[in-house]
Amino acid sequence: MEYEKIKDGLAPCGLSCEKCFAHVDGDIRRYSLKLKEKLGNFDPYAIRFEAMMGNPVFKKYPDFKEMLDFFASENCRGCRNEQCKLFKECGIRRCHQEKRMEYCFQCGEFPCTKTNFDEPLHKVWVTINEKIRKIGVGQFYEKTRDRPRYV
Ligand code: SF4
Ligand code: SF4
Repeated sequence: MEYEKIKDGLAPCGLSCEKCFAHVDGDIRRYSLKLKEKLGNFDPYAIRFEAMMGNPVFKKYPDFKEMLDFFASENCRGCRNEQCKLFKECGIRRCHQEKRMEYCFQCGEFPCTKTNFDEPLHKVWVTINEKIRKIGVGQFYEKTRDRPRYV
């Protein structure tokens, strides 16, 4: 895929916006919308199925539905197109704009202490950017495109 197109889905931090559950065109939102459509009016069926089959799992349908509604309603267009809706304290967003860096791995200060990430995310950020620096944006994208965002 061409560099500019990849940039749309890959945030300056190196994490994938297009795989984020909040992305408007992401698979998680798309499949959630589809599942909602396929389930139709499942609420009364969940009640009936619980009674008929005696399986308590159907009691959990309202919680499942709430989560599904949440995933289906997300509408972020990605970090490069708008402010990250999940992590308002992200230190990279403004910093990379000010420094005119497309990705953190290109920056002389990397790995810096400006991210505001917690420790696990900071580690992921460093690992991802070191990898991109080593193999390049295009190859990194191709190698990771089918991996889940949340591992
Ligand atoms: S900017 Fe934030 S909320 Fe939006 S898709 Fe990227 S990671 Fe998700
Ligand atoms: S200073 Fe840190 S957050 Fe800012 S662009 Fe460089 S590596 Fe990224």
